[in-house]
Amino acid sequence: MNKSMGKVYLVGAGPGAPDLLTVRAARLLARASIVFYDALVHPETVALATGANKVAVGKRCSQISTDQRFINRCLIEAAQKHEVVVRLKGGDPMLFGRAMEEIAALERAHVPYEIVPGVTAAFGAAAQLGVSLTERGVARSVAFVTPRIGHGEPQAEWVKSVLEADTAVLYMGVGRAREIQAALLDAGLSRATPIAIVEQASLPEARVFSCVLSDLHQAMDWGITGPAIIMLGEVFRRVLPAWQAELLSAFA
Ligand code: SAH
Repeated sequence: MNKSMGKVYLVGAGPGAPDLLTVRAARLLARASIVFYDALVHPETVALATGANKVAVGKRCSQISTDQRFINRCLIEAAQKHEVVVRLKGGDPMLFGRAMEEIAALERAHVPYEIVPGVTAAFGAAAQLGVSLTERGVARSVAFVTPRIGHGEPQAEWVKSVLEADTAVLYMGVGRAREIQAALLDAGLSRATPIAIVEQASLPEARVFSCVLSDLHQAMDWGITGPAIIMLGEVFRRVLPAWQAELLSAFA
């Protein structure tokens, strides 16, 4: 391995709030010479890299995004010039963050790397709601799922994962709430399944919505434009509006 080669750190920036960053991540940002950051990372978090050249490579679905191969190449070239290179990703870098593509490219180029975990959006949202995803006696399994399938990827069996887990968290799904609802109802999930949707979890702008599966299509009309996750399962019954919860227990 080239001794003069720097190291690439794949760092989780947390769900949104800049102070939900690990101490390790903050220390690395302070030492970094260059930072490649995603669109969802808070500007105050990026600003912690006081001595670094800051490069936006970020994606938000349907907006301009930097080609993954280009990002891979940038990381390798940066490691040839700088000791500390940070690749800053929203939430946790290993959850729906395309980390393995970057890792594969770094390994092919013999660039040393390290992963620094972060608080994923699901945990930011659970905290926002005050709901445990694994409430004792109610839920003992959680599925992290995305209904989004990238170009050329095989059809994912996301519906099966949702059905098999007690609690399911759907990333990148709000824009297709109607299709999600139809797929889950078709698969036999109860129309009364409680749902919470959290937009901009952990930020002051956060908004929380709740409904049951039969009303999920309405989420398309709630003006949700920020990053948001859909969470399903019995544990979210407590965040349903009182009238809805009463109605459901009357029919239970
Ligand atoms: N690696 C990230 C997920 C990246 S995929 C993580 O661990 O959180 C991007 C998706 O994450 C968004 O489409 C949205 O579904 C979810 N997301 C990210 N930040 C969020 C936030 N603050 N509130 C709610 N959902 C969020």
